[in-house]
Amino acid sequence: MLDIVIIGAGAAGLAAARRLVDKGASFRLLEAKPHIGGRVVTDSATLGAPVDLGGHWLHSPALNPLTPLVDRYLFHVKQGPEDFRVARNRAILSGPEHDECFAYVDDCFAKIAAIGDGEHDCPASALFPVRGKWHDFFEANFIAKQGVTLAQSSALDFARYVWEGDDWPILDGFGALIVRHAQGIPVELETPATHIAWGGRNGVAVETPRGTIEARAVIIAVSTGVLANEVIRFSPSLPDRKQQAIADLPLGSCNKVALGFTRNPFGDVDSMMLMPDLGATESVEFVVREGGHNIVTAMLNGPFAKELAAQGARPTADYALTQLAAIFGNDVKACVTDRIVFADWDHDPWIRGCYAAAKPGRYAARAELGLPIEHRLFFAGEAVHHCYMGDVHGAHLTGEAAAEAALAALRGE
Ligand SMILES: Cc1cc2nc3c(=O)[nH]c(=O)nc-3n(C[C@H](O)[C@H](O)[C@H](O)COP(=O)(O)OP(=O)(O)OC[C@H]3O[C@@H](n4cnc5c(N)ncnc54)[C@H](O)[C@@H]3O)c2cc1C
Repeated sequence: MLDIVIIGAGAAGLAAARRLVDKGASFRLLEAKPHIGGRVVTDSATLGAPVDLGGHWLHSPALNPLTPLVDRYLFHVKQGPEDFRVARNRAILSGPEHDECFAYVDDCFAKIAAIGDGEHDCPASALFPVRGKWHDFFEANFIAKQGVTLAQSSALDFARYVWEGDDWPILDGFGALIVRHAQGIPVELETPATHIAWGGRNGVAVETPRGTIEARAVIIAVSTGVLANEVIRFSPSLPDRKQQAIADLPLGSCNKVALGFTRNPFGDVDSMMLMPDLGATESVEFVVREGGHNIVTAMLNGPFAKELAAQGARPTADYALTQLAAIFGNDVKACVTDRIVFADWDHDPWIRGCYAAAKPGRYAARAELGLPIEHRLFFAGEAVHHCYMGDVHGAHLTGEAAAEAALAALRGE
């Protein structure tokens, strides 16, 4: 009998497959979409330069197990700290006002991090009974990191996220890097798992529209959004504790729209991350002219982004262009092209959001989600990692760990 079926060819599923190849185990890797990568995918065609629809930055590059791939495959990153700016009242701030704003934001993030060693959890919003002048901007920043509001997020979960150093954008595309690294791994595309029967004496039976696959174990490497919406049915049902963990780790929202320009209407701006101060809930970041390309990628975050994306690509692009024009002037409208790269992760049936954020009081759900069931159901994906949650490298590490755990179980250890 086949050793293992892996469901989902995102960063986690691909890492699990790579580990099984190295160990000589037999496996089949099923992917619902017509391409691999999941939430890490690059569009290099539409705007004539690589645009990542999802993951783009190597977070914590010194700790990140994927950093060596950049040199191995001759990819390019922009090293060093990001040029992160705030725009307020149509102007990009500099000098003391810029410093004051970011000092406030840093203090707020430090306040959340400070609770990380304890066990007491609360909504992150409860840590801020007093709102300073820059509080709305801080909250919009928080939403940009977590995909949900302060009130929707477990403070302890956020505090336990580990980040160190910088964030390096992968200029050739993070998705392209993942595809390059996956070369040689056999994947069955457009083959969604619809049902997993695990009630027999041994093994599992995974149903797909192309037939049923029997194996000794299964690694489930899909998002909690997919699991919560019962895109895959289980017989018997998953235990209550597992279902509760899935419900406690809902996906937030981060969608993207990238616009191309026929010339540079942004002055001497080059590779800038710009966040307009639009209030606590309208969380928008622009990556302006990264790598010197006349492209702006807007990241739209949180509940507001989900509503906007539901209107479609054109309204989302128009919104981004209006905000850009407010800062850089109407010239941006004169030289924008009609080509749009649009990623609506909320309404993607195989994903259903950006990354999992634990509900207040439920930071322990990640550990629960990661526990195997009866030595034959194993779980991987960004939501499972205890400190690199939400990240490509977190997903990758959980895929490797799930493969090791499944192999150990099959050996009877
Ligand atoms: C807009 C955005 C920006 C981001 N930015 C960054 C960043 O800069 N840096 C970073 O490190 N991380 C970033 N992330 C997060 C990162 O992309 C994810 O955490 C990571 O890619 C998740 O990988 P995964 O393998 O856990 O899940 P996924 O990528 O969701 O992979 C799961 C796969 O399973 C497939 N699937 C689903 N259901 C089925 C089924 N029934 N049968 C078969 N296949 C199925 C899906 O199609 C998908 O390919 C970002 C995410 C988004 C959305």
